[in-house]
Amino acid sequence: MIPFNKPHLTGKETAYIEEAVRSGKISGDGMFTKKCHTFFEQHFGMHKALLTTSCTDALEMTAILANIQPGDEVIVPSYTFVSTANAFVLRGAHIVFADSRTDHPGIDELKIESLITPRTKAIVVVHYAGVACDMDTVNAIAKKHGVIVIEDAAQAIDSYYKGKPLGTLGEMAAFSFHETKNIQCGEGGLLSINTELYAGRAEIIREKGTNRSAFFRGEVDKYGWVDVGSSFLPSEIVAAFLYAQLENLERIQNRRKELWNAYRSGLDALQQQGKLRTPVIPDFATNNGHMFYVLTEDLKQRTELIDHLKAKGAFPVFHYLSLHKSPYYGDKHRGAEMPESDRYMDTLLRLPLFVDMMDDESRLVIDAVNSFFH
Ligand SMILES: *Cc1c(COP(=O)(O)O)cnc(C)c1O
Repeated sequence: MIPFNKPHLTGKETAYIEEAVRSGKISGDGMFTKKCHTFFEQHFGMHKALLTTSCTDALEMTAILANIQPGDEVIVPSYTFVSTANAFVLRGAHIVFADSRTDHPGIDELKIESLITPRTKAIVVVHYAGVACDMDTVNAIAKKHGVIVIEDAAQAIDSYYKGKPLGTLGEMAAFSFHETKNIQCGEGGLLSINTELYAGRAEIIREKGTNRSAFFRGEVDKYGWVDVGSSFLPSEIVAAFLYAQLENLERIQNRRKELWNAYRSGLDALQQQGKLRTPVIPDFATNNGHMFYVLTEDLKQRTELIDHLKAKGAFPVFHYLSLHKSPYYGDKHRGAEMPESDRYMDTLLRLPLFVDMMDDESRLVIDAVNSFFH
């Protein structure tokens, strides 16, 4: 059976972990964490990069930094992972859901402005499948109304909007290194801070509300409790693993994009015949090979396609039940219908895609999809 995902190892992970262990400094913010921070700041031009224990945690940090208070409103796409909304709900925010684009699961930027009220504090965009949202439009709306923009860039490493790296376009951004993402360390994340305004406080919130980071740099002679916070930093063992992956970013990305392109060309005939839809990448966006999905006619056809692929030896997955209809938030949602989000919920299917996938495996999946429609 071809699995949906298989975490890739570069071969250096255990050597770096051993180095971290031998160094005697195993808690956070040691040499490997610094190497990772420097990599992100130099490679993608982030103002300040901070490793976190997950993207979920990085999102929770953005909610604290944005000073979200009970009753504040935050605009979030309905078609996304739970954490995108949950981070703000934890601070008492009311989530105002926005629908997706017709041609792409990302937020429909043209539907955002009508959702803004005097209580709106932030717009959270999700670069679904690593494909950029229309950030010029989103940022212009945010600027006009004095709200901030947070990027859920969980899937968006090494992807670009009009040539600019995703995760550097809003005030803050959160990345994930969960084992299903392009670069992974099992569980891990990154907070990217793109304005000096939040940089100092981010360090404190990440260190349990203390100014320990400034203390380690010798800027203060003792450290203490100066703000709220939590323990959001990963150990050096995690950072060592992640650094081994970062060193191989280019190779990993090239292979993922190669597999993605094989799907695109192998399924192009079906797309031409109008039998199924394959991803649309807008002109302003790039593809980072995070995910290859297809869109079926309806839920029934997707269920049949899943059964067919499993019978042929491939394991596809679908995801995201529209959050505005979720058991937790359904009765709190006071907004409109989200037909596009619901459509992706019913018809989107992700095909297996992982670095160590062999060419004959991707061929098998392509043939299996084609045989379903013939
Ligand atoms: C994976 C993912 C997350 C959560 O990432 P974790 O690192 O597992 O917390 C959040 N948002 C989106 C869009 C994701 O794909």
